Amino acid sequence: MMRPARLLRAPRLAARTIAARALRRVCAALLLIVLALVATAVRADTPSSTPSDLFDYRLAPRALAPGAYVIVGLKEDFAFTNGGNIVNTGFLVGTEGVIVIDTGPSRRYGEQMLAAIRRVTPLPVVLTLNTHHHPDHFLGNQAFPPATLAALPDTIAALRSEGEGFNANMYRLNGDWMRDTEVAVPGRAIAPGRQRIGGRDVELVALGGHTAADLVVVDHDSGTVFAADLVFNGRAATTPHADLARWLAALDTLERLPGRRWVPGHGEVATDTAPLRETRDWLRWLADTIRSAAEQGLDMNEVFATPIPPRFAGLALAEQEFRRSVTHLFPAAEQAALAAGAR
Ligand SMILES: [Zn+2]
Repeated sequence: MMRPARLLRAPRLAARTIAARALRRVCAALLLIVLALVATAVRADTPSSTPSDLFDYRLAPRALAPGAYVIVGLKEDFAFTNGGNIVNTGFLVGTEGVIVIDTGPSRRYGEQMLAAIRRVTPLPVVLTLNTHHHPDHFLGNQAFPPATLAALPDTIAALRSEGEGFNANMYRLNGDWMRDTEVAVPGRAIAPGRQRIGGRDVELVALGGHTAADLVVVDHDSGTVFAADLVFNGRAATTPHADLARWLAALDTLERLPGRRWVPGHGEVATDTAPLRETRDWLRWLADTIRSAAEQGLDMNEVFATPIPPRFAGLALAEQEFRRSVTHLFPAAEQAALAAGAR
């Protein structure tokens, strides 16, 4: 009697095995479909999913006037999501060559900027300027001919002493966007003044206040002033190396320049001096707030709690830059207030 039972059980086992295999195949097929759908969704969300364009800044030079171009960055802080592209760079195309004004935050940016210039003109780059020593203005230098790299003497000195530290910090903030980026310090110290460069009528103006040396480039052929980080537009100014009194004096000098068009270091290009007045207003409020807080003997946490006036509501990153500025500038203001009190 056992035999028939065994005979019956064998086919049932076989059937179960076949059903299990079929189920596994269906599951595997379903998994593949789900994976394919996920991959499609990811591709739809991130158009830059192939390795070749994953780190593409999509730099689009905008012609401001014949031969005068700007590449406008985002009004944000450095982050992997923007690759450090928070800065305005520019270039001028003369009859004989190209003048580059700042090279961006990374080697990749510099290379992509040069490629963007090549889409506009085949003329050689004859001068590559770093307006000051902040990392978003010089870390693209490697992409440009070394002999063309130039800056004010104090900028060169600051790049020698602080460039490596800036670069290391940018790797931390921007990740693989920074790959292969190294500090390339300009070998040419520029002298201010009006001159023809690459066949363009250009004036180099040496100022300071945002940093120890801030270079302003006036393109007299188009009336365009590249004001570097002495001017911010729609974004609170950064002050880690600032001398506010000197900066305010520089803004007065800038306002007297024959500009028809103003390119700030950060924010949109303007056809009037509104961004200069906005930057001056912010810096004056900052200086007054910090000085009076020090005179009243407030501590830093009390200064942080100062409300930002509503007229600055349109400035991106106002809260963050106020806190940073207090951190940078308040200790010296406290020292000055103590010294004044001791007299
Ligand atoms: Zn700067």
